Amino acid sequence: MVLNALRGLRATTPAPANSRPVDGDVLLETVGLTKSYAGADRELPVLSGIDLQVRAGEVVALLGKSGSGKSTLLRCLAGLVPASSGTVAYKGTPLTGANPGTAMVFQTFALLPWLTVQQNVELGLEAKGVGAAERADAARQAIDLIGLDGFESAYPKELSGGMRQRVGFARALVVEPDVLMMDEPFSALDVLTAENLRGELMELWESGQFPTRAIVLVTHNIEEAVLMADRIVVLGARPYGTIREVFEVGLDRPRDRDSAAFEDLIDRVYRTMTGRQKEGRTPGRAEAPEAVELEKRTPANTPLPTASVDGIAGLAEMIAHRDGRADLADLADDLGLEVDDVLPLVDALDLLGFARVHGDDLLLTDTGTAFAGADVQRSKTIFAAAAQHAPLVRLIVSSLRQNPDGTLRAGFFRDVLAHHFTSEQVARQLETATDWGRYAELYSYDAEPQEYRLDDSDADSVHGG
Ligand code: ADP
Ligand code: MG
Repeated sequence: MVLNALRGLRATTPAPANSRPVDGDVLLETVGLTKSYAGADRELPVLSGIDLQVRAGEVVALLGKSGSGKSTLLRCLAGLVPASSGTVAYKGTPLTGANPGTAMVFQTFALLPWLTVQQNVELGLEAKGVGAAERADAARQAIDLIGLDGFESAYPKELSGGMRQRVGFARALVVEPDVLMMDEPFSALDVLTAENLRGELMELWESGQFPTRAIVLVTHNIEEAVLMADRIVVLGARPYGTIREVFEVGLDRPRDRDSAAFEDLIDRVYRTMTGRQKEGRTPGRAEAPEAVELEKRTPANTPLPTASVDGIAGLAEMIAHRDGRADLADLADDLGLEVDDVLPLVDALDLLGFARVHGDDLLLTDTGTAFAGADVQRSKTIFAAAAQHAPLVRLIVSSLRQNPDGTLRAGFFRDVLAHHFTSEQVARQLETATDWGRYAELYSYDAEPQEYRLDDSDADSVHGG
């Protein structure tokens, strides 16, 4: 029904493979881009030394774990936030405000609920001072292109998530930007809808009908990146966002997910994302280059990964069922999970001493095996000892013990962490520390006065580990 326009287009213009050769024009360029956000007493870098070019004809994916600075980089490229240092240029001209050559599609659709589809799509043109008749015409074309024909007078609330995101695309495409910017545009959609929309977009792109010259896609989904991109820029998160590696995809379009080359590239990107195979590290320590030696760990150099005890226990059990050894890529695949879901858990298992990453595999340690097989009481004891390896948990326990009544306001820890992390990062880490400490019965947390309290029933296990 609504996809008639698109289906017609598919029937008449079959997509030739690699029909959009990169023509070399540099559309976007960053040189030495650094971006910092305000911390308590100084600026905290979230991106550093980013040198990146986006050329006409290419789809570039910015791939990385949550918090690695993907959205920040995209916003800098779009001129929505200023660089702290370095330059961002559009066709050679440094930006001083919003980038005139880009339009953005967001994860959440950001449609105005009181406007119809047609009116929402026209918004972008109105801002550019385009006249009413021309606006209406251009909007109809964009709506048609993106498969929304027949929905012009519908309101957002009448639409499914997939249809709303089509409006998001139409609204960006109607201005015919040189570069279409997308920030995880499929991740709020259900799997099938996302798959469908991805496929349709790429068909449009390959057919040459797409009214933009390049695409920059932010994603934490490796398969999505390999499926859509010509170039994959992997961002690493520690200590702040840098370009960790760039992959040239070089696979024919439309891409064949079952091909050996496709799977091989996914494996290689996985290895880079898990961060254990970065070159240039001291031999012998190559397995966990990002980890800090146990005795040198501090809350500042070893942030807590965003991982719940339930997730950690679940993953440990899963590996235990595989005889204590699992290939990371296969594991994520079998679980139907994305990297973003698995990597913080892997980091947590590593931090707690429950597992070690060895090449592509995750190996349970003896402690990890014991934890995976333990009953609830025993698993709490093991976790309490292991949690001493987490500097923030250790800091909370030791601070509480130094306080005569064994309580402290969360604000105390927030202040300590604020010297090293942004407030978002601090909030996430305290949430994790609360979850871990509660489970381990090391301390409790009262949301009402926002107070941590030493779990006195458990004075013994505090000395464990
Ligand atoms: P990603 O998109 O890869 O998840 P982001 O670019 O959203 O990463 O965030 C990178 C880091 O910058 C995160 O740690 C986040 O907490 C922090 N951050 C993002 N936006 C802001 C902001 N407006 N103020 C302070 N910190 C921010
Ligand atoms: Mg983001």
